Amino acid sequence: MTATQDSLPDTSTIRNPATGAVAGSVRWTDPADIPRIAAGLRKAQKEWEARGAQGRARVLARYAVWLGDHRAEIESLLIKETGKSATDAAQEVPLLIMIAAYYIKTMEKALAPERRPAALPFLAIKRVEVHYRPRPLVGIIAPWNYPVANALMDAIAALAAGCAVLLKPSERTPLTAELLLRGWQDCGAPEVLALTQGAREVSEAVIDNSDFVQFTGSCATGAKVMERAARTLTPVSLELGGKDPMLVLDDADVDLAAHAAVWGAFFNAGQTCVSVERVYVLESVYDRFVDAVVRDVKNLKIGAGDGNDFGAMIDETQLAVTERHVADAKEKGARVLTGGERTAGAGTFYPPTVLVDVDHSMLCMTEETFGPTLPIMKVSTVGEAVRLANDSPYGLSAAVFSKNIQRAKDVAVELDCGAVNVNDVISNLMCTTAPMGGWKTSGMGARFGGAEGLRKYCRQEAVVAPRTNVGAGGNYYNNSQRALKRMNTMMTKLALRGPRRKAK
Ligand code: NAD
Repeated sequence: MTATQDSLPDTSTIRNPATGAVAGSVRWTDPADIPRIAAGLRKAQKEWEARGAQGRARVLARYAVWLGDHRAEIESLLIKETGKSATDAAQEVPLLIMIAAYYIKTMEKALAPERRPAALPFLAIKRVEVHYRPRPLVGIIAPWNYPVANALMDAIAALAAGCAVLLKPSERTPLTAELLLRGWQDCGAPEVLALTQGAREVSEAVIDNSDFVQFTGSCATGAKVMERAARTLTPVSLELGGKDPMLVLDDADVDLAAHAAVWGAFFNAGQTCVSVERVYVLESVYDRFVDAVVRDVKNLKIGAGDGNDFGAMIDETQLAVTERHVADAKEKGARVLTGGERTAGAGTFYPPTVLVDVDHSMLCMTEETFGPTLPIMKVSTVGEAVRLANDSPYGLSAAVFSKNIQRAKDVAVELDCGAVNVNDVISNLMCTTAPMGGWKTSGMGARFGGAEGLRKYCRQEAVVAPRTNVGAGGNYYNNSQRALKRMNTMMTKLALRGPRRKAK
């Protein structure tokens, strides 16, 4: 460990949060080494870009196959490092492979130069093309909650775009990324992916040395990343926290909504950016919904690893946030229907906690908990549910449940957030053709979404060439003043044809 890594504990040993057993060890990167690592990546990137989309797709395909072949090994390390249940750990690698497969299939078309039409008919003498040229070095700063998916889904997109990638995983979960990097090397891939390990100082050096930063983490850190990147005018894409609401309308399939709420709130012990953090239920179905939720929660098997649904929290700091939110809710009159106190014994376990009689005076309804709470609030009208859902500084995603899909979609477009799932939760993450990004303090830009998910890692270069030389150069100095005047009058007239028609 380096002397500058003063925010890290003195040890490089990572422990399993569920048992306290040693999960592995890591060498922290000295921030002073990062310019040298970045220079090496920049050198290798040139050849990587020159391979073209087809050549890169072949390497990424080999990597996707490696991920599939090593799924069990990756998941086992993931469980050791995070204390996840086997059910939770089993979803990361498949999601990553699906995203990789999508890029492998679409990258050639998404990155091909694009013809654009002439802006106005009299400009048809020009042939306009937009070329997508990779930003040479992309820095990726990742959180700890999904050490495989959250770090690698962005890295794969940037690599597909032709960039080199400098990845910094969370200092709380540094081990899985080492294994994933080994996989990249085992595939015979070029040295365009490098790992840095550490906390704030390493992140800052990554930002200082990158041409684009993809950050996933809390809103507070996101603001610091943006501030740091502003020093070098480096663009950033920010995927931040959320307080995702779920709305259960009076004509909802109540059992389906309850299953979804329980999975959406408690998946990964609630440590998911797009988890269900609060529920608004119309009063006519409220009692049935609450009963179904409690029944489902009681069936969950708690514990890390095999045979379990619901695992440990990442550490005491994260657990303390949940404790604080539950204590605040109880003090203000909420009732606890399940859980409500940390599990005795080893490990950072906090049981799935269902809260009722909650309102917006409580932290559990307004601040991101990022833990296993499911506060449920009764509402009288759909309008009230929408108003409360939007009463938040966050705007990541949401869910609406109704048997009438059109009614649910009408409600969806009243919600101020980046994505809404109808009769489901979190599933928009599988739909990589659609943008995934937060509104308000939940983020800036979109993590992925069709061709844009790759093009965000590129700079756009407009190449404008003549179709014909007839009419070109009319505004040069070598033309007479009269000809210039005639040309400007004619161009103004032609350009005003459309607006004049519209203005009538
Ligand atoms: P965090 O903000 O504490 O840390 C994220 C990363 O930033 C880590 O790698 C950390 O080392 C680094 N970092 C810390 N200080 C920094 C600084 N000053 N400058 C630059 N980098 C710094 O977040 P976390 O606790 O790891 O993750 C949980 C948060 O992430 C939650 O708020 C969650 O909602 C959010 N999240 C969002 C998404 C999404 O897609 N929107 C996905 C996962 C997690």
